[in-house]
Amino acid sequence: MQDLTPGASKRWAGRAERGTDPRAGFQRPPGLRLRATSGGLTASIAAILVALVAATGLGCGESVVEAKAAPDLSDRPIRVVTTIGMITDIVENLGGPRVEVTGLMGPGIDPHVYKASEGDVIELAEADAVFYGGLHLEAKLAEVFERMRGRVRTFAVTDGIPRSLLLTSAAFAGNYDPHVWFDVTLWMRATEAVRQALTRLDRVHAALYRVNTRRYLARLRELHAYVQRRAALVPRERRVIITAHDAFNYFGRRYGFEVRGLQGISTASEAGTADVRALAEFIVERKIPAVFVESSVSPRALEAVREAVQSRGFDVSIGRQLFSDAMGDPGTPEGTYVGMVRHNIDSIVAGLLGQKPDA
Ligand SMILES: [Zn+2]
Repeated sequence: MQDLTPGASKRWAGRAERGTDPRAGFQRPPGLRLRATSGGLTASIAAILVALVAATGLGCGESVVEAKAAPDLSDRPIRVVTTIGMITDIVENLGGPRVEVTGLMGPGIDPHVYKASEGDVIELAEADAVFYGGLHLEAKLAEVFERMRGRVRTFAVTDGIPRSLLLTSAAFAGNYDPHVWFDVTLWMRATEAVRQALTRLDRVHAALYRVNTRRYLARLRELHAYVQRRAALVPRERRVIITAHDAFNYFGRRYGFEVRGLQGISTASEAGTADVRALAEFIVERKIPAVFVESSVSPRALEAVREAVQSRGFDVSIGRQLFSDAMGDPGTPEGTYVGMVRHNIDSIVAGLLGQKPDA
């Protein structure tokens, strides 16, 4: 399992110092800023939240709602909190200098098991808007978002995607698969949803959001074409992506790959020995040259699969790491949505064509 310490995931895309709240002119209580804990929404955090709201002078529910319903955000940056990096990327690109974005989940962070720290709760309480994936992606934050309702505007970016385009999964009875970002055309719809939300928050700058959205969508269209071109290099029968958890079903559907995960849609469930055996047999039978590890999931399970494959007289290489539920480090090409998708398709193609990983 990767480092899940929420404090380690902080990414400050906006101004470095944000101690003052211009809405109410109150100072953030010293010592409360970004204090990382082992996670979990505790009674004490709830108490902090209540105290913060009281400190803004908006203690009564009705006035809070009123203040949030028609905020004048046109003369200062909008404070946005996002969950996964791919959403942070959209909001930063569309909002530009109009937004001050705090992304809760940095490189290597697994959104399925991520819990809010005290610092997160404070960030959320002070935000003008929260953008998250929805479809139970951030399963452990649902309770926190629930508490924010009426105080902070929350937007699930997947609300911009018609339900008819979503995949369901037997592994997740009754729920949609939340990993929509790997079908670039679906992520373009999520982008449009973010544009609409920003426009609703700040109508004065609607034209700016429109221009930025057009530019971002042009890059995503180019990305979509790139993935299609690269995928076409792999012969049909070898187009199988095997990873530790089922993050690539939308990718597979859009770009023509069969997808086998060892762990199911959420990383919360462990793979058993029967799963390992079945997957190993499939690899041997189909002569699949590579399986892939993911940046936010432990590679242990796939190493067990490789051993099982080897014990059957075949070998499978462990291909380059794919970025599934988190982007790469800021400042690297994979630290952007476009870069992570390009990295993934390049790695998948190299692995399935039997080229050795170059790292
Ligand atoms: Zn996932």
